[in-house]
Amino acid sequence: MPTVKSKVKCKQCGFPNAIKDFDSGTNEYCISCTRCGCRETFKNKSYFSSGRPEKTVYEINYSAGAYFVKWKDGGGAHGRLSEAEVKGIPARMRADVAAGKLSKETYVTRFDFKTREVTALVGQLPTHDPAEQECELEEEICEAVDEQEVDDLSSEI
Ligand SMILES: [Zn+2]
Repeated sequence: MPTVKSKVKCKQCGFPNAIKDFDSGTNEYCISCTRCGCRETFKNKSYFSSGRPEKTVYEINYSAGAYFVKWKDGGGAHGRLSEAEVKGIPARMRADVAAGKLSKETYVTRFDFKTREVTALVGQLPTHDPAEQECELEEEICEAVDEQEVDDLSSEI
């Protein structure tokens, strides 16, 4: 089904360039914020026999932070982080950027639930969509970013 990409405002941090992937065939969509890691999904859960959606599910997954890893050879991936990952990952990424393994476009951000502000722990806060060419990767990574998956990412460096 044709997917339409557009930019929308993030519900968690207000970033105007969150990426919306809209499937015009099913009306389902996924919004991913590259700045704070927040993710919204709208999916059809069940259908009438006519094919019309019977039950739809909207979900918003607030996030403690986001990352974007950009490899020197041009590949990259972005996703969201748990509170534990926000604490554990920046030092290693900063070291990899300093060592030249990762490009300077790499970043890690943290969302403060009290002040609702996003700060960059590594690199610069995104002002545009850094993963325009990496949308296939993004899908699979924003599914479930756990410790394991992030470890897998860095082992590919
Ligand atoms: Zn956001």
